[in-house]
Amino acid sequence: MPSPNQQSIDLNSITSLKGVGPRMAEKLARLNLFRLQDVLFHLPLRYEDRTRIVPIGSLHHSNRAVIEGVVEHSAISFGRSGRQRRRVLMVHLADGTGSIKLRFFNFSKAQQEKLSKGTRLRCYGEARRVTNHLEIIHPEFSEVLENSLTPTDEALTPIYPTTDGVHQLTLKKLIDQVLEMLNRENSHLLMDYLPEEMVKQISTLGSDMVDLKSAINFIHRPPPDVSLSALDEGVHPSQQRLAFEELLTHQLSLQQLREKIQSQGAEILSNGGKLLQGYLKLLPFELTGAQSKVIEVIKHDVALDKPMLRLVQGDVGSGKTVVAFAACLMAVNAGRQAAVMAPTEILAEQHFQNFTQWAGELGLKVAWLSGKTKVKQRREMLAIIESGEANIVVGTHALFQDEVKFNHLSLVVIDEQHRFGVHQRLALKNKGVKAHQLIMTATPIPRTLAMTAYGDLDVSVIDELPPGRTPVKTVVLHEARRPDVIQRVRAAIADGRQVYWVCTLVEESEVLQCQAAEDTQVLLQEIMPEFQIGLVHGRMKPIEKETVMSEFKNKKINLLVATTVIEVGVDVPNASLMIIENSERLGLSQLHQLRGRVGRGSTASSCVLIYSNPLSKTAKKRLAVMRETNSGFDIAEEDLKIRGPGEVLGTRQTGMMQFRIADILRDENLISAVHEAAEEIVQQHPEIIEPLIRRWLSGAEQYGEV
Ligand code: ADP
Ligand code: MG
Repeated sequence: MPSPNQQSIDLNSITSLKGVGPRMAEKLARLNLFRLQDVLFHLPLRYEDRTRIVPIGSLHHSNRAVIEGVVEHSAISFGRSGRQRRRVLMVHLADGTGSIKLRFFNFSKAQQEKLSKGTRLRCYGEARRVTNHLEIIHPEFSEVLENSLTPTDEALTPIYPTTDGVHQLTLKKLIDQVLEMLNRENSHLLMDYLPEEMVKQISTLGSDMVDLKSAINFIHRPPPDVSLSALDEGVHPSQQRLAFEELLTHQLSLQQLREKIQSQGAEILSNGGKLLQGYLKLLPFELTGAQSKVIEVIKHDVALDKPMLRLVQGDVGSGKTVVAFAACLMAVNAGRQAAVMAPTEILAEQHFQNFTQWAGELGLKVAWLSGKTKVKQRREMLAIIESGEANIVVGTHALFQDEVKFNHLSLVVIDEQHRFGVHQRLALKNKGVKAHQLIMTATPIPRTLAMTAYGDLDVSVIDELPPGRTPVKTVVLHEARRPDVIQRVRAAIADGRQVYWVCTLVEESEVLQCQAAEDTQVLLQEIMPEFQIGLVHGRMKPIEKETVMSEFKNKKINLLVATTVIEVGVDVPNASLMIIENSERLGLSQLHQLRGRVGRGSTASSCVLIYSNPLSKTAKKRLAVMRETNSGFDIAEEDLKIRGPGEVLGTRQTGMMQFRIADILRDENLISAVHEAAEEIVQQHPEIIEPLIRRWLSGAEQYGEV
């Protein structure tokens, strides 16, 4: 039971507002609204312009607007929706400048009567072009009496994130209440934590200085003279003021996370010594300059008694595996263990094969662990991992299950990090793993974005491909040109080359995708009986997969039909032709990953993207990008424009990097100032870190906790 004292009303609690009882408070909690300040920082998602009536004749597709006109015609028809016939009420509205159709699927008798011929209506909705006319589906509407002057809104209407049982209007009223309190004299509701100097500095970024209180007022209730397009641009000083603070807080919380991890300490490893020297002699090639540089940086990192937290970005084929193994040797040479985690079974297997071969020549032992490892082998592996006989352990995320006990783990390498999402790497910490962390990704992203997304990591880039590679030539062909494709396949194989044929389905059904691959293998084998055609897909047993992959590697198989399981990391340099079916359905990074399986040897390679119609605008754009560039950086940049950072980084699902007002692409100009400011705060004003985090990240504990 709370003591009477605790029960006394907390003036900062949301329950001190009119209309907020325990029930409503519970609902508001789902929006992470607990305190009055939270309400002030519950920012609009967007705005609607209901300040003026737009002539129907000037409307365009996707315009949201208020219109006013007279119903010319109104009738119920029966449309089709799937297999069902559905009642539709179609209303034609005209205002002398043009006409538009209003379409209603759900309507009461009373509504239907209200929408009859001759009625004057004011509507709000989004106009869409349908064949040769414009229509609005389910507009908001109200009747307007002839010659009356029903006023329009004075300012833009903010639209807030809502949840079940909390309506826009409810939120708007709550926010009005809190704004009113804020604007009273001597209100202590809102503290501007940022040092004055810093705020001044933001203002030199091209806008006038705005104090926090004005910014909050502006964002919630934009004045009448502000246009929607100006707000959509997001560069008003008030918006920038808040975006800056939000980005800054994000940065501070990532740094805090980094410090937490680093404060746990780590063991000092070696520079790899004789082992590393021996390994480099084994390799049939010289390291590229970029590889050497990154290896040197890692040596430096692991020579410290705090954990390395390094992300290595390198395009597909840039030789990250060698760097990973070199890092492992730094642990092994110091008498410790290293673990390498890959996102898929097939990639982990491949690392295992490479590593086993290298380790064998160096007299080291590599253990293997995946979710599919059989009981007996598993027991053996667990034993040698625990005894320390295994120097390096390779596997999938099964590596970090509770029953796995390392003897002396001190380095963890995570390959192809984008598949894990940011979260998984942080999860390591929960396992009590106190180790240096090296994260490898083949999804290079622009520097400013990396600074924001990986604010807790040091970032290195392998910005050079091994010499002698010729860029992959990409062609885009309609599926009707399949005979030409077969011709190319024949020519490549006749030339002693090998081919990948990738079957994709967007339905996300693994069963269907594997079925498609099986069918394709049969079909291709019929067309080309003279060649060895193999098949690999996700539903095969690990041992079967392994066999097929090694046969392909040993050139016993000419053509490998595969599902997207080969997307990541598979490495067969003699393969020089890649065919991708249904390429219009894949995302850019997936296409780039797939294409990266060829072009690994010194012969000219090519990639055929087969597509079928209809081709959406973005699909067309993606295919064009693939045809035009081989650079992972350029592709990542285009991908960002098409899909946005949340999708590209895989953070959308986890709710991380979901900003309230900042937009990493739009606010790129703020990023370096944000980083400087974060430094300064850590050095000189550490006391404002917690309050800022509470303000911007309440409910997003994942930053601090994971
Ligand atoms: P990724 O960065 O995509 O993981 P890999 O590590 O799989 O790339 O390397 C791709 C291919 O390049 C492999 O066949 C590897 O042996 C080869 N390779 C790596 N480094 C070099 C180098 N410095 N010179 C020549 N070939 C290299
Ligand atoms: Mg790789």
